[in-house]
Order: sequence, then structure tokens, then C-alpha cells
Amino acid sequence: MKSPDYGKVTEEVKTALAEIIGAKDIISGEGTENYEHDETLKAVPCPPEVVVKPDNTASVSGIMKLASQYKIPVTPRGSGTGLSGGAIPIHGGIVLSLERMNRIREIDTANFVCVAEAGAVLNDLHQAVLDKGLYYPLYPGEMTASIGGNVATNAGGMRAVKYGVTRHFVLGLEAVLPTGEVVHTGGKFVKCSTAYDLTQLIAGSEGTLAVITSVILRLISQPGSREILFVPFRTLQDAVRTVPEILKEKILPVGIEFLEKDILDATEKFTGKEIPLSGYPAYLMIMVEADDQDQFLSIADRIGKVCLRMGAVDIFVPGSERAKRNLLEAREKFYPALRQLGMLEMADVVVPRSCVADFVEGGKAIATKHGLVMHASGHAGDGNVHFHLNAEDTEANAIKAKECLADIFKMGVSLGGSISGEHGLGCAKMEYLPLAADKAKMELMKRIKRAFDPFNIMNPGKVLTSD
Ligand SMILES: Cc1cc2nc3c(=O)[nH]c(=O)nc-3n(C[C@H](O)[C@H](O)[C@H](O)COP(=O)(O)OP(=O)(O)OC[C@H]3O[C@@H](n4cnc5c(N)ncnc54)[C@H](O)[C@@H]3O)c2cc1C
Repeated sequence: MKSPDYGKVTEEVKTALAEIIGAKDIISGEGTENYEHDETLKAVPCPPEVVVKPDNTASVSGIMKLASQYKIPVTPRGSGTGLSGGAIPIHGGIVLSLERMNRIREIDTANFVCVAEAGAVLNDLHQAVLDKGLYYPLYPGEMTASIGGNVATNAGGMRAVKYGVTRHFVLGLEAVLPTGEVVHTGGKFVKCSTAYDLTQLIAGSEGTLAVITSVILRLISQPGSREILFVPFRTLQDAVRTVPEILKEKILPVGIEFLEKDILDATEKFTGKEIPLSGYPAYLMIMVEADDQDQFLSIADRIGKVCLRMGAVDIFVPGSERAKRNLLEAREKFYPALRQLGMLEMADVVVPRSCVADFVEGGKAIATKHGLVMHASGHAGDGNVHFHLNAEDTEANAIKAKECLADIFKMGVSLGGSISGEHGLGCAKMEYLPLAADKAKMELMKRIKRAFDPFNIMNPGKVLTSD
């Protein structure tokens, strides 16, 4: 899968693009700045030669046929909130932004299904579905992300313990192949044993196999009210070791997050809002759903007993919607808060839930060995540990951080885990893939890539190297 010498976006190509989508939805030169980067830490911005914003599938198909003819690299883009550099056009070429394909095509209340265009933003999707009395339960942190981006990265978020991740709600796709062919996979049904599952192959492929143009999503009935328990512990180990104990009690929270004092302090400072019971070394934030207050009190009582038995200091239950909102908002602001502290690297390793404590302990020891500090937080309930390596931002420390990251990934894999639980590899983490995939698996993935994308024009330089 050698990288070809890519074609350029010449005036001839621009004219052909304008014939497909109209000149006003094409940007080149000034105005492409917003499409040069995503939210990845320290990512180097790369200017595309052109940004195109089609508003229908036929136009996407036309663009891909043209790109294929001229061998021009294409980077699909949703909202650009990715954390692995997946939407950065590292080879220039065309950025294909789905932002105008943001319609909710259908909400089918009989089949509990929603058909949304890939550029639909999560906030809008949630509201549209709610308006029809149904519910899309996933909450992957950043609600300005697009549903196409969520599917392409298989986004997770804070409700994975109960609901799983994006792919578990994707029933089918409309996607445009690098050749311009349009494929429809899956459908408005919940089971299917008909040949290969292309829906799930394209989900999580980070724009390297096809452009997703619309998504068929499974919906559920609206759940009861969502409540939070915020629980301080004297050690991080006590906090994360409590998680499997809660689940053993046959309680299924929506999500269980863990966080350390330093992260909480940074967030308090960043948001200017006080977090209750602050000052303890570690916390669990446990989110549960209940049909009524009595059911919630019973669940809270059972969870509280487990936490206290495992060393919790106290159990805090916010008494108002506002207090609840403040806590959730604090959790959502970790990333920008920590960014201000000067992170060198961040990653989101996933390990079996029972290994979270060992992983965090081992990771901290590795970081210390490299002269760095590791802060950990994340989705303890599903084993997805977000960690950040902090130290003064110098060239020497940046090199140390890369070596340290590789050692921590190796340790995570040795515990039965993998490199990324939800952010994907993009261009930021792709070099580490061989740590988690043996030769046979790497070769198979490369053959799959070649079958979809013989000219390697579909988001090249992401996920897999092109050798
Ligand atoms: C503050 C913050 C918090 C976050 N919290 C979480 C979290 O809790 N959980 C989580 O999983 N993520 C989280 N993220 C990461 C991010 O929101 C997700 O990765 C999201 O799925 C990206 O969606 P997007 O529309 O912004 O995609 P982009 O960033 O535009 O693209 C991401 C990748 O998907 C590809 N892509 C996008 N659209 C398409 C398409 N239509 N067809 C094919 N490929 C496509 C791109 O090429 C790229 O490889 C967070 C990000 C931020 C900034």
C-alpha cells in the first residue's frame, strides 16, 4: 500500500468541483484555517488545498470520483472535535466537510429508529429524538461533535457502562467509497446474519475506508431521571477497586467515572465553580437512572454501602438539578482544564475493568521512572483510562513523554487492554498500533484498506502506515 504521488487540486479540478457542488461551497486559500486542525493536543496544523462542503450524497459521490480520477487525498471531516488528529489533512488535498449534511432524515417511532445525515450535531440529534418521545442515550463528552464523526471514531463517553458505545447503536449506514460508489449497509432492523457486516467495519475506521453520509441509529424509550453520587476516597486505588464491587451487586449504573484531586483542583480553577467535598485524593462519580425517587434512594443506599465498605469517606448526592449540572459540567471540563496545566501527552488506554487499578498504579510508576507525572481520570466503569503526562514543556521532556507513552501502552496491552478505547488512532497514535496488533492482524487490516481504497486517497496517513 505505497503512497502514490498524489495529484494536486489544480484550477481544472477546482472547476470540476464547482460543477459538482457550486463555487460558493468551496474554500481555498484564505478561510481554510478552521479545517487545518482538530482538538488534538499539540497537533501541527496542515492546510488543505481546498475545502468542499457538499449537501447531498450524490455530490459526495461526484467529489470522490473526481478525487479518485486525479489521485487526490480526501480527509472527511465532521465537527473537528477529534482528539487523535483524524481530521487533519496531513497530505493537503481535499477536506470533505459534512457540516451541511446535517438533516435528520427520519425518526421512525414504530421501529425506534432515527436516520440522520452524517453532519448532524449530537445536541440537535438528541433534541430531535426527544421531541418525538424517544431517546438516543449515548453521551460522548463533546456534544458539538457530528454523528458521522462519532461513528467514524466509535465514540464512547460517560454512559458506556449501561449503553455501550456508538457502534452498539448503529444499525446501518449510507457511505460513499473512494471510487464514488454509494453503498447502503444494514437497515432498520436489529438482527442480521446476511454476509459480512460492513456497517461495523466502517464504524471506527476513522474515515480511512469510506465517507459516511448517513446513519441509521437505534433509539430507546426515555429513561427515568438521571441522578449522581459523588464519592470521595482516601486513595485512588480504593476508588477504582470499588467499581467491580458495585457491579457485582447487580447494580448497573449508566456510567462510573474516576478522578484525582489534581484534576478536580484544575477544573475548579478553570470553571470558577466550587466542587463539593473537594480536598480528597480520589473520587468516583456514579451516574444512575431511576424511575422514581424511591427507586433512586434504594439504588443509592446499595451503592453507598458498597462504597463505604471499600473505604469511601462520604457520599454526596446533589440536591438540585443545578448542583447535578455543575458536577457533570466539571467532568466535561477536565480536558480544557488540564490543557491549561501544560500537558505533554494524553491517551485513552482501555483495559479489562478489573485491571484499572493495576494500570493506573503501573502507569504512574513508569511516568516517575521517566521523570514525568501521570494524572489519570476517565471511565472506570468500562476500563477506559484517560491519562495525561505533565511536566515542563521542553524538547527533552517531549521526547521523554513519547518514550513513556510507548511503555505505558505496552503495559496496558500486557494487562489484556488496547491503545485507544474511544478517541481512535488518527495520525497521533497510529505509530503505536503494532504494539497492539500482531503481524497477521496488521497485514489483514492493510488488505482490507487496499480493497476499499486501492489508490490510498481516503484519509491517508491515519490509523495504518502506508508501507
Ligand atoms: C472537550 C472534548 C471532550 C471529548 N470527550 C469525548 C468522550 O467523552 N468520548 C469520546 O469518544 N470522544 C470524546 N471527544 C472526542 C471527539 O468529540 C470524538 O472523537 C468525536 O466522535 C469526533 O466527532 P467530530 O464530528 O468532531 O469528528 P472529526 O474530529 O471531524 O473527525 C474525527 C474522525 O472521523 C472521521 N470522520 C468524521 N466524519 C466522517 C464521516 N462522515 N465519514 C467518514 N469519516 C468521518 C475524520 O476523518 C476523523 O478521522 C471529546 C473531544 C473534546 C474536544
